[in-house]
Amino acid sequence: MRYSSLFLPTLKENPAEAEVISHKLMVRAGMIRKLTSGVYSWLPFGLMALRKVEKIIREEMNRAGAQEIFMPSVQPGELWQESGRWDYYGRELLRFKDRHDRDYCLGPTHEEVVTDIVRREVRSYRDLGFNLYQIQQKFRDEIRPRFGVMRGREFGMKDGYSFDADDAGLEKSYRAMFDAYTRIFQRCGLKFAPVEADSGPIGGSFSHEFMVLADTGEDAIVSCPSCGYAANTEKAEINPPEPAGATNAGEPQRVHTPDVRTIEDLTGFLKISAAGLIKTLIYQTDDGPVAVLVRGDQEVNEIKLQNLLRSGVELAAPSVIEQVTGAPVGFSGPVGLKIRLLADHAVSAITESVVGANEADYHLTNVVPGRDFTVEGYYDLRVAMEGDPCPKCQSAVTIVRGIEVGHVFKLGDKYTRAMKATFLDSDGKEQFIIMGTYGIGTGRTLAASIEQNHDDNGIIWPMPLAPFEAAILPLQAQDEDVVQAAEKLYKELLALGVDVLLDDRNERAGIKFKDADLIGVPLRLAVSRKTLAEGQCEFKNRRGGEVEVWPLDQAAQRILDLRNQATAL
Ligand code: ATP
Ligand code: MG
Repeated sequence: MRYSSLFLPTLKENPAEAEVISHKLMVRAGMIRKLTSGVYSWLPFGLMALRKVEKIIREEMNRAGAQEIFMPSVQPGELWQESGRWDYYGRELLRFKDRHDRDYCLGPTHEEVVTDIVRREVRSYRDLGFNLYQIQQKFRDEIRPRFGVMRGREFGMKDGYSFDADDAGLEKSYRAMFDAYTRIFQRCGLKFAPVEADSGPIGGSFSHEFMVLADTGEDAIVSCPSCGYAANTEKAEINPPEPAGATNAGEPQRVHTPDVRTIEDLTGFLKISAAGLIKTLIYQTDDGPVAVLVRGDQEVNEIKLQNLLRSGVELAAPSVIEQVTGAPVGFSGPVGLKIRLLADHAVSAITESVVGANEADYHLTNVVPGRDFTVEGYYDLRVAMEGDPCPKCQSAVTIVRGIEVGHVFKLGDKYTRAMKATFLDSDGKEQFIIMGTYGIGTGRTLAASIEQNHDDNGIIWPMPLAPFEAAILPLQAQDEDVVQAAEKLYKELLALGVDVLLDDRNERAGIKFKDADLIGVPLRLAVSRKTLAEGQCEFKNRRGGEVEVWPLDQAAQRILDLRNQATAL
């Protein structure tokens, strides 16, 4: 492509609203433009990169035996009523009515639609064992759209769905997708890790997330350096500690703690460490308020709590807290509390502790779990922390940050049961089809690759995602010989099938270098009067290294070799 005819509006300044580097660079490099909150247009350069991601995904999905389809984004409300998600999905689902007053939504995902297609066609176990996927726009009315296309409201996703007769079939389909995803992210040139994950509102019994490792990631991952265990902190299991030994602590003492409401205030006031305190949090659930106890230095994991209670959970409002504890926020405690009491395992290892007294400006000391209060049970209810013992091998885990780019789930019969998608097994018995669901955010994957690959001057594309693999920069745009040599090289590279950009603009060398860096072209060839006199050109790799002087007549072949090396997998 010729730069002069490209619609590639680059910016010198970072856009004000962009917080993360990928968002800044995608706008500056003329890839995307915002239409409205969380909704972006893809400009030519951005779309070229997005198409590269999609091509890799398609190739690997097809290689794994999945078949591409294309489903509508407008979906009838009835299907969502049938699956039970019309109510459950909440405000992320964008709903509207047609002229006949019928309910519709814009698809945030396609389990309902694909299940409806399949249930109408599949009769026998012989029809099963297939995977259907599409690459399509989704709409989710995210509470906080941010980071450009990373968390958009309208965004591209590859979503795929497997249909099997039994768990063994699902296991095979899941494994095939797990392997395909591994290849996809390897081919994209990303540093990533598959981690065990919570299945979230889509449900199902088992799932892995594919995380691109980046400090700006919204997800925290527990990772074990010894055995390789990796899990989202939302899900990471924590084994119970040894229970506390006997104690001869005296009776609980009421201590005046005026205006001491937070753990920080309390540790300062009483000169004790947070690990010796018990925090009492009041949650609102579908069945009323519940108190949850965790160690003072630890945090409640609301996903684990939600899964345990099988209910949505939300921190209770101050008025509810006052009602159930009789005290303002900051003084809740388990002693004498009349609502359900659940505790994290770590609380069982505390011999004596300090808790809120359920009375304004008072705490209780010398409180012994089991003696001064009893809980309904001890459960794994907290967020994993750096240094926690690995649930598999007991070594200390580390916490790293990541961006979730893909998600594979075993769904089982969650949707097929609700939507009555059945088949006859080999004994002629009616069974529910067993499903899996597999998603990759295409735009998010691209943004994540920029988070991982950039420097102060701009993007550094991994070769497989680079819209242009090589750029040719004629440095004196007015010099006929320079222009001719650059044109010749351009044609050679085009003929070799390299995605090449010829910067034929009548611009200064400095501007051409700057723009080539900003848009991240991996391989750069500069042709100038000086080098041309020797029959040479200058080569530079965007990832670094010295400028090399190459014979002009070997340049095209060398670029091809470098390109092929960098995309071989
Ligand atoms: P998140 O926890 O980030 O909201 P999710 O669990 O809702 O993600 P899935 O329903 O598993 O996401 O969707 C599959 C993939 O779609 C995700 O792995 C991610 O790559 C992508 N994705 C999800 N939400 C968005 C979004 N708002 N913008 C861009 N991509 C998204
Ligand atoms: Mg989400």
